[in-house]
Formats: sequence, structure tokens, C-alpha cells
Amino acid sequence: MTQRSTVAIVRTPMPPDEEDVDRMVREAVRLSGGLDGIVSAGDTIIIKPNLLAPASPGQGATTDWRICKSLANQVREKGAKAIIAEASAIGADTEESIKASGYDVLRAQGYEVLDLKTCKTVKVPIPKGTVLSELSLPEIVMQANAIINVPKMKTHDQVLATLAIKNMKGILPDTLKKKFHTTFGVFRAVAELNTVVKPALSVIDGIIAQEGLGPLFGTPVEMGLVIAGRDPVAVDTITGLVMGLEPSKIETTAHAAELGLGTMDVDMIDVVGLPVAQVQRRFQLASEALENDLRFPPGFELLFNEMACTGCRNGVLSTLRDLEIEGRMDILRDMRIVAGKMDAPPPASDKRTLFVGVCTAAFKDLGEYVQGCPPNNVDIISAITGTSDHEFFARTTE
Ligand code: SF4
Repeated sequence: MTQRSTVAIVRTPMPPDEEDVDRMVREAVRLSGGLDGIVSAGDTIIIKPNLLAPASPGQGATTDWRICKSLANQVREKGAKAIIAEASAIGADTEESIKASGYDVLRAQGYEVLDLKTCKTVKVPIPKGTVLSELSLPEIVMQANAIINVPKMKTHDQVLATLAIKNMKGILPDTLKKKFHTTFGVFRAVAELNTVVKPALSVIDGIIAQEGLGPLFGTPVEMGLVIAGRDPVAVDTITGLVMGLEPSKIETTAHAAELGLGTMDVDMIDVVGLPVAQVQRRFQLASEALENDLRFPPGFELLFNEMACTGCRNGVLSTLRDLEIEGRMDILRDMRIVAGKMDAPPPASDKRTLFVGVCTAAFKDLGEYVQGCPPNNVDIISAITGTSDHEFFARTTE
């Protein structure tokens, strides 16, 4: 018989202070079964936030440090050691992310905050893998007694929403993050990764969530929520419903359910604390934001494929957002931007075509090309506008 899962939903009035956050997190942990059986005296526990890029806490892109602090304190109260650990997205400096999102405050207060990009890795077999057979993963994560996963509640331009299952991709070194997109197929690979680093508890930060152009450039949404549970698939399922999404369309989570990592069956999930209906809000999807918020001129095409990873996606989306803000979208008329590894070139076209990132290098002679992995935003802007980044912003702000 399939086991039932419990997911706790707790809300705080906005804006919460540190005490409010601590109270809310403790309540969510208690309602979802507490730390007994997860944390014992003498253990080392990894707390894994989402610090994908340098972003201020108000943007809703990175995990609120106050949640990690509360969890670290609860771990310490059990006589165990807490290590907050993360590796930012490809090309992003984790130390910069740590500073921008306020985690240097935690360091100053004596909490251990680690950049996993600098850590030794060990080879780990993936017995249930179909696209993965072995991965090099941070030794410190593999040796930990348990992982507490602390993702953000936010939409994602590729996976619909990035929640508990997707958040574990953050432990990978850059080389593997790339391979997940370019070689293995990111949705399945992320789910298979979770079979060897399955979090014992997932606590989703929905205090300031993010909708639209997530995972980085979306719009902050004040939800005042924390959603927690031991079953990461059930946590994603309930959080998806809170965001007004169809959980089965969150592909990483659907693959994880298929791999037996938890249940997506809402009849098998006990929601405690607040009911979904009381906190539900329909989130704008990244695809809707692209259509509605960025006013593309006629003939513009954005050709991302599944192989395009966060580095290229973020670079291109931030460039498009800059063009929109500066009122320069017309420069994209009859233009295509192509990113992500591909075996064949895009269909022939008279349009001006910009190939972005080394994954498209094989086709660079078919148009213009921006090198890099990931490429610099500055170089993408220069290629599109034909001016330097400095000249572009100087001219448009005259
Ligand atoms: S070029 Fe872009 S899509 Fe290709 S691996 Fe690098 S960041 Fe990812």
C-alpha cells in the first residue's frame, strides 16, 4: 500500500521580521512531522537553499536567509551540525550570490555557509538511472546524514516551476549542470539525481515568491508562505496547486514520482495547517510573461530548446528585458535568437539570426555568433545592437 504523505502550509503576515519567520518555519517543521528521525545528535545536516545568482532578497529569486537560519538553529538544538551549502548557476559566482542575498550575515553570526563549487567531489553510482549512470557530487553532501532542501516558490521558463525536486540540481558543479542540459536531458536527469540525494525534508520559501520570467527575472509576489514536508514530490504537488499550476506538468516532479520518490496523488496527501484553497493564487507563467510583458516586434523569434541551460537562458532573457526597459525592442524586428545545443541548424530563414553560446558554434557561419559558456550579457547586447554595452545604455538614457 502506498504511504500517505503530509504537507504543511503556514502563513505569516507581511512583511515578517526574523522572529515571525522563525515562528512560521518551526510551525511548518512541527506540522510536517518534526526533525525526529531526520536529525540526531552528532549528525551533519546539509541545508540547501536556492542561491542561483546574485539577487537581492526582495527579488523573490533566492531563498530567504532567515528560513535557513531558523532551520540551522533547529538542527543545532538537536546537537547536530548544520552546513548551508549551494553552488550557483553556470557562470554565476556563488560567493557573489551569498553576499547579495544576505547569507554573509549568517556567516558573520557563526553559521557555516559553503560554496559547493569549491568542494571536493566523489563519484556516485546512480542505480536507478536511465540517463545517468554515475555522477561526481560534492563529498560533503554525500557524507551528510541528511539534506534539508529549502527551495523558492517561483516559476521557471523551462520547467514551469522550480520547487523541491529541481532545487537539488544546485549541488552540481558547473560541468555537470551543463551536461544535464546538453547531454542527459534535464528533466529526467534532475529526477534521477534526487534518487541519490533525496532530501529528508523540503521547506519551500514562499514568503516573497516569484512569477513570470523566473527563475531570476520574474516579478516578486508577496505570499507570506512556507510549505513543508518530508515527501518532496508531495511538497511540489501541493505548491504547484497553490500557484495555480497543474502539478503533472512540472516535468522534474512528474519524473520523480515515476521513480518512486513520492506521490503526486492528492488523495494520498494530507495538507495540514492552511488548506490550499485559502492561499491559492494563480501565478503568471514564464511563457505568458514573455508574450505579455515583452513587446516583441513582428518577425522576432526566440529559439530556446530543452538543451539551453540557465546560463544562456538568463543571459538572453536579461538582454531582452534590458531592451524592453530601454525602449529598444524594435531592433529585434525580423530577427531570431538561437540558444542551446542542437544537432541540426534551425530551419533556413531570411531573418537575421544570432547564435548564442558555444553550443551553437557549429552553425555560427549561418548568422552572427556570440561566444561564451555562458556568454556575457554585454556581448549579447553588443551583438544585437552593434554598439558596446556602455554605448547602448549611454545612448538610450540620454
Ligand atoms: S553555451 Fe549556453 S546552453 Fe550551452 S552549455 Fe553553455 S550555458 Fe549552457
